[in-house]
Amino acid sequence: MAKFDYDLFVIGAGSGGVRASRIAAGYGARVGICEESRVGGTCVIRGCVPKKLMTYAAHFSEDFKDAQAYGWNVVPGSFDWSRFIAAKDKEIDRLNDIYISLLSNAGVDLLEGRGVFLDRNTLRIGERTITAETILIAVGGRPFVPEFPGRELVITSDEAFHLSSLPERIVVVGGGFIATEFAGIFNGLGSEVTQVYRGDALLRGFDDDVRAMVTSGLRTHGIDVRLECGVEKVTASDSGAYSVHLNSGKILAADQVMYATGRFPYTPELNLEAAGVSMQNNGAIPVDEFSATNVANIYAVGDVTDRINLTPVALHEGHAFADTVYGERPRSCDHRFVPSAVFSNPAVATVGYTESDAREMFTEIKVFRSKFRHLKHSLTGSKQQMMMKLIVCADSDKVVGLHVVGQDAAEIVQGFAVAVKSGLSKADFDATIGIHPTAAEELVTLREPV
Ligand code: NDP
Repeated sequence: MAKFDYDLFVIGAGSGGVRASRIAAGYGARVGICEESRVGGTCVIRGCVPKKLMTYAAHFSEDFKDAQAYGWNVVPGSFDWSRFIAAKDKEIDRLNDIYISLLSNAGVDLLEGRGVFLDRNTLRIGERTITAETILIAVGGRPFVPEFPGRELVITSDEAFHLSSLPERIVVVGGGFIATEFAGIFNGLGSEVTQVYRGDALLRGFDDDVRAMVTSGLRTHGIDVRLECGVEKVTASDSGAYSVHLNSGKILAADQVMYATGRFPYTPELNLEAAGVSMQNNGAIPVDEFSATNVANIYAVGDVTDRINLTPVALHEGHAFADTVYGERPRSCDHRFVPSAVFSNPAVATVGYTESDAREMFTEIKVFRSKFRHLKHSLTGSKQQMMMKLIVCADSDKVVGLHVVGQDAAEIVQGFAVAVKSGLSKADFDATIGIHPTAAEELVTLREPV
């Protein structure tokens, strides 16, 4: 008889956990997985997927205006929030079902409930206790909201997907991925949006030109971006509205206040101490390149490890873990040159170094940059600009950074990321013939460094 109930037990059925369990089961391992919420995790249930559907919904307001400039007699209609939310929820239910079938088709046992460590091989899941030779922690993260008076009145992205109505006025706090994306979503859907951020330009960590362009782009769309600004307290009124008291002394009236001030690794209730697994101060689980923790039979992938908190990275980490431990194909996830995008308006996508990081990394760099109006807007009169920027290491001629702001940024950069990841040179870019007329052709026609 087997010594353990499972060869592998995975805690958390999100992107990383589902991928790891399916691949391990494919190699013949006896696999179980537990989930306390819905199978699919943050990305599918309350993250990337529903958020992207919301960005599509939001973009129509601009599309209707653009259509008029192209001769269409479009009468802008009103937006039906409930109808959209119902359609979005139906699609999320469909994806949730697909994820459940993927697990059962792979022969993975799905247990409902939170996994709590009793020791390094034993977990309690609800009323059940199971044992496993190897345990993978893939519990992801949860929204972080700082302490302040009125904290209990605000929502996070988790609730933003399920509001009963579209807020007429919303204050979004934070200047990162989620805040900037949701500011654009609510603005596009017709809410009056104020974004409050403590820094001097949105999207810290991105290239400075990108940050400046996104900050001014959001303002062009009518979002009231308040920089170097904080919230002292939030109070509720009898009418159901809120007052957001800023540290500048100003008070903003809002129907919803959304905090997008980062996420924390969801380790607090795992009882990791019982298994002897180390944690960093922020709750993240430190792992080596093969996602192994300090305890020999326990691994961790995805946001809970706080490496690069993106779904495709978690998928890679989970897949590499299963190949290594069950497939006799030891491999690690390469975290260099991971492309990413912010689905804001204007959108951003990027791969590689920012200009300022590249200046520190390389002795000499060349910067190529082009700002222009998208051909589509030659008829619409929109003042929106696009930007393409390349950072080139002068010694090797390799393109080490590529940044796009504007329409289809993510679709463009996904393709170019292969070139940057492969270490192609500026000369290789120059030798590639553009597709005309596209915006992306700028990236192969940039001639003079700035
Ligand atoms: P981010 O880390 O991107 O941004 C957090 C923001 O909140 C920053 O602007 C930060 O300011 C601010 N902040 C942090 N603490 C406080 C505080 N106490 N008071 C006021 N402001 C504060 O987190 P998000 O929540 O936006 O997103 C979480 C992660 O999810 C991202 O890092 C990303 O990895 C992932 N994600 C990816 C998406 C994509 O790929 N398109 C979309 C959404 C999320 P400061 O800059 O000064 O630190």
